Amino acid sequence: MGNDSVYNALVEIVGEDYASNQPEELYMYSVDSGTEGPRKVDYVAMPKTTEQVRDILLLANEHRVPITPMGANLTLNGLGLPVNGGIVLDMKRMDRIIELNKLSRYVVVEPGVTQGRLGTYIEKNCPELEHSRPEAPPMATVVGNIVIRGHGFLAVKYGNNASQINGMEVVLPTGEICKTGSFSVSQLPFSKGPLPDLSALFCGWNGTTGVITKLSLKLFPKRKTMDIVGYAVHDVELVPDLLWRITQTDMVDNLFVVGFVFGDSGESPQYVTVCFTGDIDEELEHKKAVFQKIAEEFDRAAPGKVEFLYPVTEMLTSRFIEKPPYVSPALAADFEHGGGYRYCGAILTVDKMPQAWRTGIELARKHGTNFLSGTQIMGYCHSVNFCFVYPFNRADEESMERVRRAMRDTNEAVLAMDGIPWKAEVEAQKLISRKMDPNSYNLIQRIKETLDPNGIMNPGNWSK
Ligand SMILES: Cc1cc2nc3c(=O)[nH]c(=O)nc-3n(C[C@H](O)[C@H](O)[C@H](O)COP(=O)(O)OP(=O)(O)OC[C@H]3O[C@@H](n4cnc5c(N)ncnc54)[C@H](O)[C@@H]3O)c2cc1C
Repeated sequence: MGNDSVYNALVEIVGEDYASNQPEELYMYSVDSGTEGPRKVDYVAMPKTTEQVRDILLLANEHRVPITPMGANLTLNGLGLPVNGGIVLDMKRMDRIIELNKLSRYVVVEPGVTQGRLGTYIEKNCPELEHSRPEAPPMATVVGNIVIRGHGFLAVKYGNNASQINGMEVVLPTGEICKTGSFSVSQLPFSKGPLPDLSALFCGWNGTTGVITKLSLKLFPKRKTMDIVGYAVHDVELVPDLLWRITQTDMVDNLFVVGFVFGDSGESPQYVTVCFTGDIDEELEHKKAVFQKIAEEFDRAAPGKVEFLYPVTEMLTSRFIEKPPYVSPALAADFEHGGGYRYCGAILTVDKMPQAWRTGIELARKHGTNFLSGTQIMGYCHSVNFCFVYPFNRADEESMERVRRAMRDTNEAVLAMDGIPWKAEVEAQKLISRKMDPNSYNLIQRIKETLDPNGIMNPGNWSK
């Protein structure tokens, strides 16, 4: 420890309490709650300020040590883990909520601010507004979710969370502190445009192009009341048309589809859940009547295939009305046996949902696991995020290996469906790269090389 110059320099920058090279402390940074890891980690550092982040990046360049930013490390696909060792930059200490601007509807946060904390803060200080919160556990960071282009419960109206940002402060791999959006010209981080969208250089790159140190995120009106209706669809082929018809009403706040096959119990129906809001009860009543009418239209065309559910089941109520919702993990994970689950979130066109459902069942049978699908509708059916969820028992290595194999096959199947695996793990990134237009792939690598000439940002993640 005494002769370790990188460790000593990290202590200089962040203080002794916030740097470590001790194996027992590094271990928890080497694994995540999916099936990835353990990976090699040489150091962990917990910066408190942007300047400390900059100094650590300069140090990493000087010593050519890889560096990996980490929020709550909850992607389940190992994206917060180093591929080739080096320093894990644990962002949790940078946890200030810097500004909440009610009139312009945005909030500025540091990268350690969690979804739970931001949600509570907004509820307390400005209950008329909300952010598009993902279903991830409350300790997931707002920034980590943006980096992987995640999505929350306002995805139908506003798209994925990365499209809901105004701008950011970011430390480039070479140590420059840079701003994007209106942040770069004025003191006010209220708009992405009209400038070139530099924020896009840091969303979808898994933290390999820079370290975000501040983020301005849009907030949206929170209506006074909310309700949900459901449809139990007994023919999966009808789901795309039903979703199209529902989004055509322009009355939907959130739209989600769940289906599952557990053991020998057979296929569940597709549960389509529609979440809608209003300011007065009559508004909700009117919307509910419109959704009921849609079920009647489908019933006339295909009798008995689309059941209208109101009130919906307890499971769906807690999934949508009682936030934060944890129903899908509870359904999917093999908790009884110490388990967990992994999922491949496939960005697909809506018409591919029936094929995806059949593929998931087939692959689960092939690999001897249960299967659950949860589909978040993105935009007005502009795309869907169809999650193929496979549970495993962490105490049983063979069951974890089965799920790894199922994930591999799923990634290939998704690409064959002209879809794209979301928050792709390193193995899936390689499959995507192979299918990608070579000029696009080279452009990605050129941008990365320009930003990170010494290749210190988690090398192996989004690279050859
Ligand atoms: C039960 C469960 C449910 C989930 N549901 C959803 C859901 O509904 N929607 C959804 O979108 N996701 C979901 N997820 C996936 C994931 O947990 C979330 O997207 C989460 O928000 C990621 O945040 P994190 O803090 O864990 O990020 P991390 O895993 O720590 O980081 C994600 C990526 O960002 C990089 N990174 C982290 N901080 C920075 C930084 N400051 N600068 C640059 N790069 C950085 C990391 O290197 C990594 O590549 C779910 C996960 C679980 C376990």
